[in-house]
Amino acid sequence: MKAVVYNGPRDVSVGDVSDAKIERPTDVLVKITATNICGSDLHMYEGRTDFETGRNFGHENMGQVVEVGDGVDKVKVGEYVVLPFNISCGFCKNCERGHTNYCLTTQPDAALAGAAYGFAGMGPWAGGQAEMLRVPYGDHNCLRLGEDAKEKENDYVMLADIFPTGYHAPEMAGVVPGDTVVIYGAGPVGLMAALSATTKGAARVMVVDRHPDRLRLAEQIGAIPIDDSKTDPVQFVLDQTMGLGADRGCECVGYQAHDPQGTEDPALTLNRLIASVRFTGGIGVVGVFMPADPGGPNEDAKQGKVAIDYGLHWFKGQTIGSGQCPVKKYNRQLRDLIAGDKVKPSWIVSHEIPLTEAADAYRNFDERNDGWTKVVIKPELANA
Ligand SMILES: [Zn+2]
Ligand SMILES: [Zn+2]
Repeated sequence: MKAVVYNGPRDVSVGDVSDAKIERPTDVLVKITATNICGSDLHMYEGRTDFETGRNFGHENMGQVVEVGDGVDKVKVGEYVVLPFNISCGFCKNCERGHTNYCLTTQPDAALAGAAYGFAGMGPWAGGQAEMLRVPYGDHNCLRLGEDAKEKENDYVMLADIFPTGYHAPEMAGVVPGDTVVIYGAGPVGLMAALSATTKGAARVMVVDRHPDRLRLAEQIGAIPIDDSKTDPVQFVLDQTMGLGADRGCECVGYQAHDPQGTEDPALTLNRLIASVRFTGGIGVVGVFMPADPGGPNEDAKQGKVAIDYGLHWFKGQTIGSGQCPVKKYNRQLRDLIAGDKVKPSWIVSHEIPLTEAADAYRNFDERNDGWTKVVIKPELANA
């Protein structure tokens, strides 16, 4: 079958990979109808991880069930399903506690926890930027969609990762109705964090970025855009909050944070958060950080060491929540908000493309070219 194959840094192409198929009785086989390019694909695309050449990306997947194993009870052939990027079992110690982001069964390395489709360090699982996808523990991992699945496909596919991940940030930060929230990063996850903070009842949401197209999208949902190439975001937040700082903050950038001139500093956004969130405030970090980053800008960064202003953070009595999102904790409720027309996460989608245009889309998204805010790959477009 065709898939988007990684050939090396900044080099992907559509090639043949072995067909996805039912391998165990609990598997579900899904024909992919929508699969997104994610910001975290770019870390791998740029060669900043140990993702193996010849493998394929794709962890934000949705499609139609074409076959189920003998041990699958709930999911039926023909149904549309969206798959959490976390692959989890449902019965291990972490899954039982709801931490499906740190499943012990689907991650073969005993020193690690957590698995995902087509992802560096997250197990051997093939990605969904392909014609078909094998879904392990199908009854547990498939979130079934209703009759509006195709009509709202660009909304529902966001349930695989970025909408729940965006929701996880204000959730970890402790956002309650009436809060003022500052979000660093207006990529797809930051924009979803802004949507989620608003959905959770935040009175004011400020979003920091420097790309005009992203800031426009933030403004479209009522957030206050802050361009950090023109304005000091910390001072702006303090000015907006009588010098107190925001109640809550969200980190949606990750370890490749850099200033407007391009100088990388993995502590940049965390330090800005510590400075612009009030005493006793909460911070949710969903931007990706890595235990090692061989391509990092200095010796500390290469070893995953991030020099944050811990003294100020402690002094202010702030809390920080970190880590990948346990998608299953939120995806059902967020699905029903979409079904009930309360939220429309597809407002960020800029491009729908067939698999054959993936290489071009990766390049544009990686270069942050204007207007390339979110790409949805639809393998069926090739036949249209
Ligand atoms: Zn993603
Ligand atoms: Zn598990």
